[in-house]
Amino acid sequence: MLPLVKTSIPSRELLMPELEKVLYSGYVAQGDVVEKFEREFESYIGSGNTLSLNSGTAALHIALILAGVQEGDEVISTPLTAEPTNVAIKMTGAKIRWADVDLNTGGICPISIENNINSKTKAIIFVDYAGIPCNIKAIKQISDKYNLPVIEDAAHALGAIYEGRKLGNHFPFTVYSFQAIKHLTTIDGGALQIQDDELYKKAKKIRWFGLDKGVSRLENDIKFQGYKYHMNNVNACVGLVQLQGIDKIIQAYIYNGKYLDENLRNIPGVELLEYYPDSEPSYWLYTVKVENRERLIKKFADNGIMASELHKRNDLHTFLNDFPTNLPNLDIFYKKMLHLPCGWWVTKEDCDKMISIMKEGW
Ligand SMILES: *Cc1c(COP(=O)(O)O)cnc(C)c1O
Repeated sequence: MLPLVKTSIPSRELLMPELEKVLYSGYVAQGDVVEKFEREFESYIGSGNTLSLNSGTAALHIALILAGVQEGDEVISTPLTAEPTNVAIKMTGAKIRWADVDLNTGGICPISIENNINSKTKAIIFVDYAGIPCNIKAIKQISDKYNLPVIEDAAHALGAIYEGRKLGNHFPFTVYSFQAIKHLTTIDGGALQIQDDELYKKAKKIRWFGLDKGVSRLENDIKFQGYKYHMNNVNACVGLVQLQGIDKIIQAYIYNGKYLDENLRNIPGVELLEYYPDSEPSYWLYTVKVENRERLIKKFADNGIMASELHKRNDLHTFLNDFPTNLPNLDIFYKKMLHLPCGWWVTKEDCDKMISIMKEGW
């Protein structure tokens, strides 16, 4: 079965010597290797400070804290995402207001964001779902107009570009996940890209119990709630080796994504997604809208290809549905949404097979 998602690990020859060095160095906790990974990730992104963490969920949590989100506040978010995006909001004690999606892209709808702003709104979270950059221009305008911090959850969109610059350069906080099936995995891990230098310093303390790692333990004074969210040298070592090959990996997703874009046009029962002007997706999944989704999923499965909707609408989770909301665009989008595999493990022959399966009808 051609899987929808797959873990990418560098070859033994590349990874094992580096890993062995770190494992037997006597220092496996957060140290020099973590520092090196952060600086290299920063230069990969192009601006801001990288705070490496033990998960993308930790990155979301710290971003929310830095944005000033507290118990009783509200955060505007999207239900079309993996659960961590919204579970992290609940970790702060804040409540979730759902914005609808844009029917043509599945990305959060800026008009719906604006309609949901009230005096309790403290922040906006959006997700570049499946690797497709959202309407960044319009989201920025809303953020400026209402002076609301924006957290970009780019867990699906490492390497995606907007206006010539990678995601991670456009908002005060950008979240990455290095969990097993993301574009880049450190086995588990995550990062928060923080534009402001002072907030970065504060975030380093939040990451480590509220303690300042640059000062001796006895001279430290904890002044706010911290967590144990740091990355260690072992995971950072995996990350450093992964970074050497990341351009090639992401190019493979993009190559397949563009090939499917070109060859799935004008097929009855298939609607392709649109991308916003000046944006380049990194196609973590290949998402299409189709009629009779269940029948097509079955036909794909019969032909050895896994395709599915992968995520459950987050508003269907009781605990996350703080304000039940009509989401007419999501209703239509989600009913037709289907993800096809398009990562580095998918060959041109696999793509051609998916294309002919859909051209035949189902
Ligand atoms: C994977 C993921 C995260 C973070 O997940 P972790 O497993 O905590 O690294 C956050 N948001 C989205 C949309 C994700 O898919």
